[in-house]
Amino acid sequence: MNTKRKKISILGSTGSIGTQALEVLDKLQDKFEIIALSAGRNTELLKKQTEKYKPKYVCVAEGADKPDVDGAKILYGSEGLNQICSDKENDIILVAVSGKVGLKPTLTAIDNGINIALANKETLVMAGDIVIKKAKDKGVDIIPVDSEHCAIHQCIKNRNDVDKLIITASGGPFLHKTLEEIKSATVEQALAHPRWNMGRKITIDSATLMNKGLEIIEAHHLFNMDYKDIEVIIHPQSIVHSAIEYKDGSIIAQLGVPSMHIPIQYAISYPERFEGIKSQSFDFAQAARLDFERPDYKKFPSLDLAYNAGIQGGSATVCLNAANEEAVFAFLNGKIRLYDIYTTTEKMLSSHNIIKNPSIDEIFGIDKEIRIKTREILKV
Ligand code: MG
Repeated sequence: MNTKRKKISILGSTGSIGTQALEVLDKLQDKFEIIALSAGRNTELLKKQTEKYKPKYVCVAEGADKPDVDGAKILYGSEGLNQICSDKENDIILVAVSGKVGLKPTLTAIDNGINIALANKETLVMAGDIVIKKAKDKGVDIIPVDSEHCAIHQCIKNRNDVDKLIITASGGPFLHKTLEEIKSATVEQALAHPRWNMGRKITIDSATLMNKGLEIIEAHHLFNMDYKDIEVIIHPQSIVHSAIEYKDGSIIAQLGVPSMHIPIQYAISYPERFEGIKSQSFDFAQAARLDFERPDYKKFPSLDLAYNAGIQGGSATVCLNAANEEAVFAFLNGKIRLYDIYTTTEKMLSSHNIIKNPSIDEIFGIDKEIRIKTREILKV
């Protein structure tokens, strides 16, 4: 081992992406050194992780129990995350927290010239214009962790030669259900995703296809692509993770057995590639078939809602994200039906006065206001 180890911090180390990232790092101990880990309230798991990985800092949510850890400095809340992201010792930060709490630390890391492996959707959905511009100004790489964007990142050589992005969607648990069945779906049915094992909020978003809608907005920012040139295609087997079409009509796709380990490993290792946690090879001869179909926009109207919010731009995507998330929570708590997630978000968007180029403070203000209004109309 004579090469310098890359220094990494993981924001959200106890979540679904965070724990899988640590499994990746277990296979790459000679390549990476962990600087900091952060959790929300799962201080028990964070303690175990701290004993094993011996980070310099750990951070927990404001008001969480003080983690009983030796040797690591304990930080709290968004101040703590900002402190981690200000430490220029980091070569890369994996932003795997969920929700808007990911935005400010990401901006801090970019300000400090630290590359980002991005698994947090809200960062680009809420503030894509600001984040991408800042990263460009600072020469910082933002490497997406999401399987679809990771696929596109792997396929793109010269952006100027690309005509179209083709983002695949598994279709979720309701792909071939009727609209009536979708409208009356239970929480358990919506949480039973056929391909991917993820957190609860994103699993509901996958059931309504809002997750794909948010991914379209992220793709627009990450790859500087017009919305009209981003196509969604349903692919239930989740083997083709996404594709790009070049201007000469050539299509390049990235394929593999569904596993989040690979995109996580790619994102933190970029521009290098390691064997690491090598996935099981996809056996072309074994696969009976790969299916593709167009999404049914009537059954999954959230997709169009996201396209429209993206095209409107400015604060529209902030409104989309906040209203949807509040409605998803209401659904998970048994307060509304699955389809009401869409009708609620649609209602909030149609009454939202869009601010064209909102500042970060304005973005947080709008987020808060939309959440309050959404809860009001949902009476939760
Ligand atoms: Mg995805």
